[in-house]
Amino acid sequence: MIRHDITEPIRLEADQIYHLACPASPIHYQYNPVKTIKTNVLGTLNMLGLAKRVKARFLLASTSEVYGDPDVHPQPEEYRGNVNTIGIRSCYDEGKRVAETLAFDYHRQNGVEIRVARIFNTYGPRMLENDGRVVSNFIVQALKGTPLTVYGDGSQTRSFCYVSDLVEGLMRLMNGDFIGPINLGNPGEYTILELAQKIQEMINPDAETQFKPLPEDDPKQRQPDISRAKHYLNWEPTIPLDKGLRLTIDDFSSRLL
Ligand code: UDP
Ligand code: UDP
Repeated sequence: MIRHDITEPIRLEADQIYHLACPASPIHYQYNPVKTIKTNVLGTLNMLGLAKRVKARFLLASTSEVYGDPDVHPQPEEYRGNVNTIGIRSCYDEGKRVAETLAFDYHRQNGVEIRVARIFNTYGPRMLENDGRVVSNFIVQALKGTPLTVYGDGSQTRSFCYVSDLVEGLMRLMNGDFIGPINLGNPGEYTILELAQKIQEMINPDAETQFKPLPEDDPKQRQPDISRAKHYLNWEPTIPLDKGLRLTIDDFSSRLL
């Protein structure tokens, strides 16, 4: 284990690089947006320079955020997105878009073996209590008996993938022949209100709901088209939301007690 900030160059040996570094929760990536951009631009550049030098295969953890607030639904990889260049989410969205560009240019210019995954909302055991994303927020709130904070009217949708399904998809992508980009996510789509209700039913039917302002540029809908992942990786999620939530709730219950 080496602890290192990838915005600084590093020399080491590797066969495969899973470039996963970057906070993914809006409250965390917006806490220091300039650092988020550095991580996605300088960090990705350094990891690609490293991959080029040691001839390692490089996998980029890109994101559904490259589609921004999508006006195509569900989102296929060909869709080029609807991203605000100057909003509070831009450090992450545009950072990942540049990271994809860097990966493809190192591939074309230097022959670096790249793999690009566009990861949709993912959740599961061992998320931090203060992660700030919706699944862990609702579970922690219901377990603690505080109101579930629904942003906006809760009609916006997300599609939630269980962590072990995602990891399987990333490993298949790394070890397969298709360079991507490729969507990895669970096509099961729910409104945020539906998610709140599910978690209330599973933890505490009397838990209250509290409506809060919708953050700026919050995407209205999101669902992956996973045709490519099915075709090229023979992959699709196996854990439905109810089962994944149960496993995640059990994990949080044991830690919060
Ligand atoms: N880099 C790194 N580790 C390496 C090789 C390169 O951190 O093993 C960094 C390097 O410092 C540079 C970036 O990756 O900032 C891009 O490297 P590349 O060789 O493509 O560009 P150059 O160094 O020629 O500008
Ligand atoms: N959200 C919410 N309550 C929370 C946290 C998030 O209603 O406590 C909403 C948020 O506004 C968004 C959705 O849930 O519409 C997913 O938010 P998250 O931060 O998990 O991920 P995003 O997909 O927005 O990056």
